[in-house]
Amino acid sequence: MTDSYDYDLFVIGAGSGGVRAARLTALGGKKVAIAEEYRVGGTCVIRGCVPKKFMVMASDFAHQFHTAEGYGWTVEASFDWPKFLQAKDVEIARLSGIYAANLGKAGVDLVNGRAVFKDAHTVEVTHRDGTGETRTITAEKILIATGGRPWMPEGLEGIEHCISSEEAFHLPELPKRIMIAGGGYIAVEFAGIFAGLGVETTLIYRGPNILRGFDDDVRAHLAGEIEKRGIKVILGCQHQKIEKTETGLVSHLENGMVLEHDVIMFATGRVPHVKDLGLEKAGVSLNDKGAIEVDTLSKTSADNIWAIGDVTDRMNLTPVAIREAVAFHETVYRNNPSHFDYEAVATAVFSQPPVGVVGLSESEARHTCSAGVDVYVTRFRPMKYAFTGSDERVLMKLVVDAASQKVVGVHIVGPEAPEMIQLAAIAVKAGLTKAQWDATCAVHPTMAEELVTLKEKQSQDTSAG
Ligand code: NDP
Repeated sequence: MTDSYDYDLFVIGAGSGGVRAARLTALGGKKVAIAEEYRVGGTCVIRGCVPKKFMVMASDFAHQFHTAEGYGWTVEASFDWPKFLQAKDVEIARLSGIYAANLGKAGVDLVNGRAVFKDAHTVEVTHRDGTGETRTITAEKILIATGGRPWMPEGLEGIEHCISSEEAFHLPELPKRIMIAGGGYIAVEFAGIFAGLGVETTLIYRGPNILRGFDDDVRAHLAGEIEKRGIKVILGCQHQKIEKTETGLVSHLENGMVLEHDVIMFATGRVPHVKDLGLEKAGVSLNDKGAIEVDTLSKTSADNIWAIGDVTDRMNLTPVAIREAVAFHETVYRNNPSHFDYEAVATAVFSQPPVGVVGLSESEARHTCSAGVDVYVTRFRPMKYAFTGSDERVLMKLVVDAASQKVVGVHIVGPEAPEMIQLAAIAVKAGLTKAQWDATCAVHPTMAEELVTLKEKQSQDTSAG
């Protein structure tokens, strides 16, 4: 560090990416500080993946109790929302504390406040204790890892009465009726959560089917399965306005429907968290999507400033932000230019049932595999539901490049799909062929064994495109 700066590295945002970069760099002997305006842990730990998964697990018990009855159990269940919220919040506080402690152990200075650029080497941090006290800090290098924030359609009449996922984590009471707008990860996950907890749940999505961008078989299968779990799905339709009445929130929809709910949640996407950061003073440019523009090594348009994670809107997933942080550290502090490989990143949607995906959808593969694709699909009832009368089905699909015979896409909808896809991702990432999958002996009786016993090629393209 040149003596003229307070720190070698100043990180803005103590989420998954920022914390990893700060710790690695401090452990490497550099003087590092990290600013956080809310709570250490960021979206994933505080109001994203972690509390969401607790909510999914809380909600899924209802389904398990139903299954248990088929096995001879008598279950008299009731759910205490405040008790759950308290347990969740205690755990989130514990995890946030661990993150903060780990920063301290690595020698990172934690600055509790909002950082705003004054120039490319200087930030002003306003402390969040309400005193308005500010502190000016200089750094040789700065890493922006401020993540994203929910976006809701601002011009929609009545939108001020609605919530985003952030408030859904802290609802004072469980509503009787909820409407969720959107068809992406968050909408589908929260619809499952509330429906499982006994809330009358309606999902409204403007497109022809939920989860745009996913394989069409996955989209169709999941839409059918969540309807079986009691979610009312309205497709191809949006709100015209929302009206608050004495009894609830009334949705006036484009198709003329008028529906009343107690809570309306918009899960209509997240946007990079760049507002009022003073980026222009630092010479940091945004791209046309409003995200921080970076090169393959995560460097911004300013020579001493880098950005990682959701604020760059590349692939908005926690493990990706962490890998981008590691690549940043290798590049900038270990003389080892590195970038994350965005190919074959597995992802899970914690809907009920959940989805696990790695690699290409069938339609993507048909565009990229010049000799065509072989598709293997199976749908079956999980053994666990044999006694319940449930007509729920698992979907498993393998997409294979016809020329190389490499498995380029795996798609699963069903119980434990996220756990299965993590392992399938190793094989896809390694570029294994269908014959190599088939040479792997099955584990019986499991659902996953279907992945290595799929014999019948689907005869033609059944993908909608
Ligand atoms: P997504 O981008 O996944 O979905 C946004 C949804 O909102 C889409 O269905 C979109 O429709 C719809 N939408 C957008 N604008 C409007 C509008 N003006 N009116 C009506 N509908 C609209 O965002 P999410 O908020 O669900 O999640 C954000 C990101 O967070 C995800 O992309 C993912 O990267 C990450 N995430 C990951 C999770 C996981 O790994 N399990 C869980 C949660 C989030 P359309 O498709 O037509 O554009």
